[in-house]
Amino acid sequence: MGMSEILESVSPSAPSDVVGRFAAADDAAVAAAVARARAAFPAWRDAGSDARTAVLERFARIASARVEELTLLIAREVGKARWDAESEARLVAPKIAVTLGDGMKLVEPLAPAPGQRATYRPRGVLAVYGPFNFPAHLPNGHIAPALATGNTVVFKPSEIAPAVGAWMAERWRDAGMPDGVLEVVQGGPDTGRALARADVDGILFTGSYATGRALLEATLDAPQKILALELGGSNAIIVCADADLDLAVTEAAISIAATTGQRCTAARRIFVERPVREPFQEKLAAVLRGLRVGAPLEPGVFMGPLASLAAHARLEQMRGLAAAAGGERVLTVDPGRPPPYTGAGLVRFEATAQRHPYQREEIFGPEAALYPVDDLDEAIAAVNDSDYGLAASVITCSRAKYERCIGRIRTGVLNWNKGTVGASGRLPFGGSGKSGNDRPAGVTATLYCTAPQAHLESEAGFAPSALPPGMPRP
Ligand code: NAD
Repeated sequence: MGMSEILESVSPSAPSDVVGRFAAADDAAVAAAVARARAAFPAWRDAGSDARTAVLERFARIASARVEELTLLIAREVGKARWDAESEARLVAPKIAVTLGDGMKLVEPLAPAPGQRATYRPRGVLAVYGPFNFPAHLPNGHIAPALATGNTVVFKPSEIAPAVGAWMAERWRDAGMPDGVLEVVQGGPDTGRALARADVDGILFTGSYATGRALLEATLDAPQKILALELGGSNAIIVCADADLDLAVTEAAISIAATTGQRCTAARRIFVERPVREPFQEKLAAVLRGLRVGAPLEPGVFMGPLASLAAHARLEQMRGLAAAAGGERVLTVDPGRPPPYTGAGLVRFEATAQRHPYQREEIFGPEAALYPVDDLDEAIAAVNDSDYGLAASVITCSRAKYERCIGRIRTGVLNWNKGTVGASGRLPFGGSGKSGNDRPAGVTATLYCTAPQAHLESEAGFAPSALPPGMPRP
């Protein structure tokens, strides 16, 4: 079996700390893993929901008993601060209950009339791709519903977080997952490309727009492979003049800088009604300046390093474009540590026009832009002036203003008096435009893991009266 390169995972907070070494799967190794998952599919499909539920529930018990271990591994491998790593680790077990409860309800048979029924069948072998920024929770958000609905899975963790991916797969084995039902292939883009080309029935992907686009291209001649794309964002917050300013500042700062800005829902664009523009900016800058940057496991640290030196270089390059885009830099906080550590950055613009790549592209670091707006409708239009459509927030004391935004702002997530990074696994989660292809994950993930089959059903025998005109009796 071909295993060519060795993938080495290094901690971003300590370059000498090798978290693990993994054999990268080449084409032959990927094909072999897919073949094992294919062979395991009929038995897992036919095992029935009770048998599958038992394995999923054992996994949930194991995951909740080992939250601390997973917290430390996430912090070490991708650099998340302890509170942040722990909040991710705590999401793994509850995902199972949500999937088995509300998730499976969505794919219960439909029976709209006597003799009519629709059932939902598993698709077969599903490829799951994970991003580095939620290396446990987000692949789990595809894997749990895929397995619960009777599919088998080939999982490719991010090459930046292979150890977390391997840890998750080991917990499934501990839970008694039969051989072949969950296969893991480690590696980078080459392994990802091989998996997309392989004999899989679907691709459940969380990652960047660029890779999502490459997957769309790679599957143009394979329309039977369903693609669920959970991609990037350029998320916005509207701060109305009547907002509770301390709330607005706190939610904005968390949304800009949690996970060192490396969240798909991170706030990049903040539209502030003119009367509160200056006080909001002043308070936000003060909070961003005060955010504690440090090694992930140091007590009291808000944000750790970026996940890699390459991510740091890209952030610096984007920051360098702010002036050319017409922005005025309010601050870039010195993290007091070498790359890939960074501090928060804030830039202000005088109008809402967003033409420059600095304003339009996903940056994936703690960097946001402030724009003044005259009223809510201008703010709504400015939020929608984006290639992405993942998350937005409205901070206002007026429910009516918030309700006005619902359905007018084109995002999959729209929060009220909560930042953009808040999301619930009990709700759908996805976006439009470059944020995804309208197959939301979250609780609705069971839908893309299954295919409906429609049935007209009858127990009656032959009825001569039902013969169409001109048709002889048999
Ligand atoms: P990425 O696109 O670089 O990588 C994601 C996965 O795709 C990795 O496993 C990678 O090895 C693989 N890959 C890379 N090139 C490939 C190719 N050509 N063919 C097949 N596979 C390939 O993303 P990332 O840097 O790990 O994650 C950050 C991105 O993910 C950001 O854009 C972020 O917004 C997005 N994200 C989205 C969500 C969401 O739910 N919408 C959640 C988290 C992160």
